[in-house]
Amino acid sequence: MTSLGSVPSVLLGVLLMVVAGGSSLRADAVVRVVATTSLVADLVREIGGTRVSVKSLMGPGVDPHSYQPTPSDLRALQDADVVAFHGLHLEGRMENVLQRLRSRRAQVVAITSDLPVTRLRRVGEGEGAYDPHVWFEVGLWRECISTVVAALVRADPAGTETYQARGEALRARLVALDEWVRRELAVIPKERRVLVTSHDAFGYFGRAYDFEVIGLQGISTVGEAALSAMTELTQLLARRRIPAIFVESSVSPKAIQRVAADAGVRVGGELYSDSLGAPGLAADGTDPSTYEGMVRHNVRTLVSALR
Ligand SMILES: [Zn+2]
Repeated sequence: MTSLGSVPSVLLGVLLMVVAGGSSLRADAVVRVVATTSLVADLVREIGGTRVSVKSLMGPGVDPHSYQPTPSDLRALQDADVVAFHGLHLEGRMENVLQRLRSRRAQVVAITSDLPVTRLRRVGEGEGAYDPHVWFEVGLWRECISTVVAALVRADPAGTETYQARGEALRARLVALDEWVRRELAVIPKERRVLVTSHDAFGYFGRAYDFEVIGLQGISTVGEAALSAMTELTQLLARRRIPAIFVESSVSPKAIQRVAADAGVRVGGELYSDSLGAPGLAADGTDPSTYEGMVRHNVRTLVSALR
């Protein structure tokens, strides 16, 4: 017997298909994926190749901690074959929406869901209080590949070989990228390996590549930097003779610029933190709209300011 409750959702489905007609997802793709952040979208694109069309809800410079989905996002999420999100509470204000989708659809995947908790940084007492910024440890981001491969295989079994081969190729590239990062950073002397930024996005980076990391704000950017934190940081910079501090592409630069002026230190450049950049080549020849380009840009920025 057909339940009456299912009728409105069928009608809604038809309506949504009509409304979503102008979506940027390619109609000829086998799998249509909606990703929350630009980083997640890039990972899925790398593995999916031409079989997959990926739409990122958050564009360049958008802060995922505070992002709230728009009505058109909700339509895109409903219409996707696979919804890929980061997880670990990165999308703090989208959690209710993602939970609701999850209870209705099988294909909603947190790309960090298979990471062993032993490799995550704890950032508080509560259950699941882990630092979400895992992409800054290239080796950890590489561990997310198998989760994405598995999700695409579930959605499109005919593409299994493609997804596995592309996943393998990406794994090899990220091994090489990790080695490149270590080689480049080796020119920065031990006492200058201090990374001061707007918020605590670089904890994994510090752990993996031997940097002390100081964020003006906590793990999330929700709320503003406290005046006391700014004063404390200004004093620390003077005491430690730290040559440069950095602004982040997805966080307002005001607080960091103010601290830099007060402490008399240089702003060493802009780092991509929680979002990739706009497509196109940066002055240093990297394309910050890709994960690899973003990592290279950040490393080059650090090296030129701190070496
Ligand atoms: Zn963040």
